Amino acid sequence: MENREIVIIGGGPAGLAAAAAARQNGAEDILILERDRFLGGILNQCIHNGFGLHTFKEELTGPEYAARYISQVREQNIECRLNTMVLDLSADRVVTCMSRDRGIETIKAGAVILAMGCRERPRGALNIPGYRPAGIYTAGTAQRLMNIEGYLVGRKVVILGSGDIGLIMARRMTLEGARVLAVAELMPYSGGLRRNIVQCLEDYDIPLLLSHTVTDIKGKERVEGIEISEVDAASKPIPGTEKFYEADTLLLSCGLLPENELTRAMGAQICPATKGPAVTDSLETTIPGVFACGNVLHVHDLVDYVSEEAAHAGRSAALYIKRSSASQHRTVPVVTFGGVRYTVPQSIDTLEMDDKLTVRFRVGSVIKDKKLCLYYDDDKVSSVNKRVMAPGEMEQIVIKKDSFNGRDDIKEIRLGIED
Ligand SMILES: Cc1cc2nc3c(=O)[nH]c(=O)nc-3n(C[C@H](O)[C@H](O)[C@H](O)COP(=O)(O)OP(=O)(O)OC[C@H]3O[C@@H](n4cnc5c(N)ncnc54)[C@H](O)[C@@H]3O)c2cc1C
Repeated sequence: MENREIVIIGGGPAGLAAAAAARQNGAEDILILERDRFLGGILNQCIHNGFGLHTFKEELTGPEYAARYISQVREQNIECRLNTMVLDLSADRVVTCMSRDRGIETIKAGAVILAMGCRERPRGALNIPGYRPAGIYTAGTAQRLMNIEGYLVGRKVVILGSGDIGLIMARRMTLEGARVLAVAELMPYSGGLRRNIVQCLEDYDIPLLLSHTVTDIKGKERVEGIEISEVDAASKPIPGTEKFYEADTLLLSCGLLPENELTRAMGAQICPATKGPAVTDSLETTIPGVFACGNVLHVHDLVDYVSEEAAHAGRSAALYIKRSSASQHRTVPVVTFGGVRYTVPQSIDTLEMDDKLTVRFRVGSVIKDKKLCLYYDDDKVSSVNKRVMAPGEMEQIVIKKDSFNGRDDIKEIRLGIED
């Protein structure tokens, strides 16, 4: 069996940034395993601009953003095995992977970083009535077919779901000569970034129908039409509100799911709200020496935050392989209330944490003119006015290590919304 200091599963933006940071923090022997034939992950198909505003203070396309990290990894001589699928990961950090060239291999890692990204929720998970004709794609598949393979997947398009990929595809299909007739969203608010609603729908006069869903798909061989109805507060279609669109294509943009089959099989605890592993402030999962970052941990809207988080995971993994087991820990759970759906991390080691820690979170519905409050047990330590928070936009709060001084018996950190 091969032995490695750090094995990274996934060569997307998270895996690349984690590798670069692990090397900068002293790890010598790093291996990236990527199932695809390229590094860069999902960014290779995101040819629109808007990436990197935070990290590079420039507007880059997805492939340009990925190229910057690929160059860093190459300059640091970090080994990458492409076309290599990880099949299994055990709790004692043995990675089993397979490639056409090398066959099945097992690698024992000092630390592992999970960076497998996420996948789209498919039609089968959505309960849409109607036949199963050709012309129904997830938005990401349509994006890959268009931007990498060069196919226009349809000419008259309806989109279900207003997540960012759907919004971006509404603009992309329009620019390629298709007509996007409507974007229907089940919820009374969009799941995408405000900037994407403006730049991808409003600028092209594409209607966004909130509280609407697809209630029928017409056509047996190929989609011939899509019926959309309004829904009530319980998300049930309201009879009599049906609208018919003569369309040949339906794109689905109904949410992303972290790719956590390996994580689950290894026995790591999964957070029910994020569907990713539960992690401490060092982004370590409940399996010692296994760290997670990027979309496999929780779905991000901006890749800049993926890179920042992944650099933290890379640094933590590099410290883990050097750390003596003598360190002292005081792990405190982070509990949410009043509309905060989840936080990452889900617990904080108040003795070993960095001087400043960014805690990221999302709310469960649109929240206006309320206060974001942080408690250490029953003691309110901060309260910040928030004009608006929406489920589509990731929020963050910075917690300082010295704020725990004198709180040796703290049981709980609580983050939530109050009037
Ligand atoms: C359509 C779309 C539009 C977006 N637009 C923007 C935007 O405008 N601005 C912005 O900042 N962000 C945007 N994003 C978000 C950004 O692209 C993602 O946040 C980022 O790509 C996530 O990085 P990641 O490395 O976690 O995952 P990915 O990029 O998905 O990379 C994961 C990698 O892991 C590999 N992998 C998975 N499982 C295995 C396995 N078992 N073995 C080996 N390899 C494996 C995959 O092949 C993949 O290469 C967009 C995302 C999408 C999908």
